[in-house]
Amino acid sequence: MTLASIPLAGVIGDPVAHSKSPVLHGHWLKTYGLAGHYVPLEVKADDLGDVLKAMPKMGFVGCNVTIPHKEHVMQFVDQVTDRATLIGAVNTLIFRPDGSILGDNTDGYGFIENLRQNAPDWDPKGGPAVVLGAGGAARAIVSSLLDAGAPEILLTNRTRARSENLRDDFGARVKVAEWVQAGNLIEEAHTLVNTTSLGMAGKPDLRVPLDGLKSGTLVTDLVYNPLRTDLLEAAAAKGCVTVDGLGMLLHQAVPGFERWFGHRPVVDLATRRAVLA
Ligand code: NAP
Repeated sequence: MTLASIPLAGVIGDPVAHSKSPVLHGHWLKTYGLAGHYVPLEVKADDLGDVLKAMPKMGFVGCNVTIPHKEHVMQFVDQVTDRATLIGAVNTLIFRPDGSILGDNTDGYGFIENLRQNAPDWDPKGGPAVVLGAGGAARAIVSSLLDAGAPEILLTNRTRARSENLRDDFGARVKVAEWVQAGNLIEEAHTLVNTTSLGMAGKPDLRVPLDGLKSGTLVTDLVYNPLRTDLLEAAAAKGCVTVDGLGMLLHQAVPGFERWFGHRPVVDLATRRAVLA
């Protein structure tokens, strides 16, 4: 393989220095002995179009897109997958040989794969899913839970209008409740997901009462810093099945890596260790 044909990929964001993706993809490239590089690219919103035009000419085969560009980037993409269209955001770009750009969103896929891997007995069809939060990440979670067969999504967010927008987009299986009702909703939960940033290092605590949480409920948190959030600790103490949010980050990267570097990576303990190191 000549130097010029070594595939390049990366992550576009602003800021981007915090991203764990370069370590993750670097770990897989090394593990599988593949030629390729994955680099962080700090790009301002005004430069996004120019950068995306130039990247394929420089040997890039695709990239991830992170905050704040996930929605804005859609205008520069030639084709958007159905799931990304539904979510209204793109996190994975594929630069095709014909010069066109395909945009996908793998967040919902990563979310479900993480649960399937770490809670293999969990059945999304088994009862209502309670989703806390209605921000950017929540759209992918709601979409993927519906797709996986959750009979009902009970959605609550501090800003009610954002939950209502999601219900309008995703339909009547999504039911909206007031944020102050979150503790009551939890009594209904077969699955409980925190998609807010509450509980993350440096952010306020998630102060939702968990008294009604039933043992056996699947509880997961998108926050992965800390890895074991107060929500997960409290849920585990009540006999719930808990899954941390790091696995979602790892699994969402799988489809992009496979497309760019030609090998489907496995998310295993070594992958987690590499990213946590
Ligand atoms: P976002 O679009 O900014 O949404 C933030 C959410 O948190 C909104 O629902 C917001 O409610 C809520 N929130 C923030 N402060 C609050 C407060 N003081 N009280 C009540 N609610 C509050 O962010 P996002 O992109 O959806 O990300 C959310 C979290 O998920 C972040 O911690 C992010 O790191 C994590 N995440 C993890 C993964 C993963 O792979 N594990 C992937 C994506 C995101 P309002 O609408 O009322 O503001």
